[in-house]
Amino acid sequence: MNLPLVGLKDERTKVKVKDTVVGGNEVILMGGPCAVESESQMREAAKAVKAAGGKVLRGGVFKPRTSPYSFQGLGIEGLKYLAEAAAEYGLLTISEVVDEASLELMVDRVDILQIGSRNMQNFQLLKLIGELRKPVVLKRGLSATIEEWFSAAEYILAGGNSQVILCERGIRTYEPSTRNTLDLSAVALVRELTHLPIIVDPSHAAGRRDLIPSLAKGAIAGGADGLLIEMHPHPEEARSDGEQSLTPDQFNQLSEELVPIAKAVGRKLVRSNGLEGLDDLQILRSRIDRIDRDIVGLIAERMNTAQEIGEHKHPGHIRDGIREHEVMEQLQEWAKKVGCPVEAVQAIYPVIFDQAIQLQLKGKGTQKSEKAI
Ligand code: PEP
Ligand code: MN
Repeated sequence: MNLPLVGLKDERTKVKVKDTVVGGNEVILMGGPCAVESESQMREAAKAVKAAGGKVLRGGVFKPRTSPYSFQGLGIEGLKYLAEAAAEYGLLTISEVVDEASLELMVDRVDILQIGSRNMQNFQLLKLIGELRKPVVLKRGLSATIEEWFSAAEYILAGGNSQVILCERGIRTYEPSTRNTLDLSAVALVRELTHLPIIVDPSHAAGRRDLIPSLAKGAIAGGADGLLIEMHPHPEEARSDGEQSLTPDQFNQLSEELVPIAKAVGRKLVRSNGLEGLDDLQILRSRIDRIDRDIVGLIAERMNTAQEIGEHKHPGHIRDGIREHEVMEQLQEWAKKVGCPVEAVQAIYPVIFDQAIQLQLKGKGTQKSEKAI
């Protein structure tokens, strides 16, 4: 094998994602649904990942499905649910990129990019990710040899992005009783031949939830640096891969059972940063903080638009009481529809109107305030 970068290096690469290290002493748990489906699903999933001591929330938003008629993912809307749920529970995020357009959307919105099995040899995508300086999980192709997989990693490393984590997720064999066959020798070989961290996805290997715990334990015992596991708050309702998704309880139990296994191979699985360190008040406050940031962002957008409107107004007629009245009526109707107290709209909007008027007056070179007529 001619693998100058994959094979070259005395010490193992540690991929640092914020304060989490993949490839260090700690075994890293990543979990979440196959696909992001809704805000509440991601919130429940995030809570379960956190409670089990997981560090990374997974959720596909661009799903490369075998059938074009299967659910293809929520796209950018799903990214928002993934990022917000993870932020509330202090988790990192991982999600799959499928092409240049999805990469552009995701690069600043997820912590770890995932290249799926079906894209392991999408060389254009590998080159683009090589140009980044960003953690990436490179899954082994469904029918890829180990050498082909390493060569794909080489594309990324050769571009200068050294933050590559390999992921064994089962390969296609003649055995039909599982979705794929988990290749544990690949885990050992990665450790033997490369300096890159290796994680295991037992979910896509098994295709059935009853086997996941055994495969996950085997993976950690065999030297994997972490696990990427599908877990859905309500697997029976999942829009993809429900049959191979653990429930939150099963995920938690597995995490607990992995602790002594990690210890037996000189590693640790830290569960103490679970929900016990994060009370409901803290979680709700972090949700409020995020909502406030969104509100301020929207106010900024509103102010900028008001400023532009100001440029089209006659200097003597900046304030338009009739328009304000109309907007207020519309907003009160809308408030009723979306369950917002009408009194809140009545109290907040006059202030927003005033601020917009001040800005428009400033634009006309006069700062005196105008009152609505
Ligand atoms: C996934 O992780 O959601 C996925 C599609 O996996 P794979 O690329 O391994 O099939
Ligand atoms: Mn899946």
